[in-house]
Amino acid sequence: MKSRRRPYAQQRPQDLGGGVWSVPVPIPGNPLGYTLVYAVESPKGPVLVDAGWNHPEAWKALSGGLAALGIDVSTVSGVVVTHFHPDHAGLAGQVKEASGAWIAMHESDAALVDLMHAYGESEHASFQSDMLKRAGADPGEAMEAVSRPTPPAKPDRRLRDGDLVDLPGRKLRAVHTPGHTPGHICLHLEDADRLFTGDHVLPDITPHIGIYPFDRDDIDPLGDFLDSLDRVCELGPLDALPAHEWIFPDVAARAAEIRHHHEEKLERLRALLAQRPEPLTIWEVAAMMTWNRPWGELSPVLRSMAAGEAAAHLRTLEARGGVRRISGLDPVRFQALDS
Ligand SMILES: [Zn+2]
Ligand SMILES: [Zn+2]
Repeated sequence: MKSRRRPYAQQRPQDLGGGVWSVPVPIPGNPLGYTLVYAVESPKGPVLVDAGWNHPEAWKALSGGLAALGIDVSTVSGVVVTHFHPDHAGLAGQVKEASGAWIAMHESDAALVDLMHAYGESEHASFQSDMLKRAGADPGEAMEAVSRPTPPAKPDRRLRDGDLVDLPGRKLRAVHTPGHTPGHICLHLEDADRLFTGDHVLPDITPHIGIYPFDRDDIDPLGDFLDSLDRVCELGPLDALPAHEWIFPDVAARAAEIRHHHEEKLERLRALLAQRPEPLTIWEVAAMMTWNRPWGELSPVLRSMAAGEAAAHLRTLEARGGVRRISGLDPVRFQALDS
């Protein structure tokens, strides 16, 4: 994807004014670079929005970055995470250990964290490789793509859409924006017209939207994501404080742009399928789509993510009546319907 220049200032801890600070917390070995962790002032002690990746270097950057802004990590009163992914929730447990802070997240992501804790290593591996085989990956490739992240700390508080975060004297409201994860939330700082967008709306890139297991037909994450973009558009031209890249104005305009991008991608996929009349597996569809590198150069883990994304697009096209699922086949296959 084309690259706009990164404002340099956001790569160091910053006082954003109005009792809000940002600290870039590195994600070692990941091209995203860093998670922007925000601190919001409150009389009980600052509340963090996200915490960063669980790694000693990240912890040093978070605690040191807060200290450089005059905040001792032991005074943090709470961590509200936008979603359960490790670059957001990973360090929440360590912040809690250092400060006694509560951890809050949306109840749908909290349920996934509970599942991650309940699943053993081997159950997780067989769940993942079965899912990959059902999508049409060959068994060897399915084994190579298996990975198990360390589950984040379980939350102490579970949020629902519209809930106010415990932040005395201020209004920080959870806006449920499912899509990237089922329980992703943006956080609207209503007294300052600012929206913490997590991974939902980023200034240049777009978040991964996948469906897991790939062959589920009872959920539609991409459809949810598009609805969640509309939800953000309705909030108006707020300043966006995203978890990656850089801060930007007018979140509604960017949300509309991302929606447009996905509509085009859906249409391209529909047209591609219409040219291939035979039923295709999710894996075959993923291999036909355009990724930032040729399919043959993607690692097994990246191919698995691409398949999740292809599956999400197929599911949305199916829900819209553009594609038909042939469930009797193993692996499941998809075919374009005449429009
Ligand atoms: Zn994420
Ligand atoms: Zn992220």
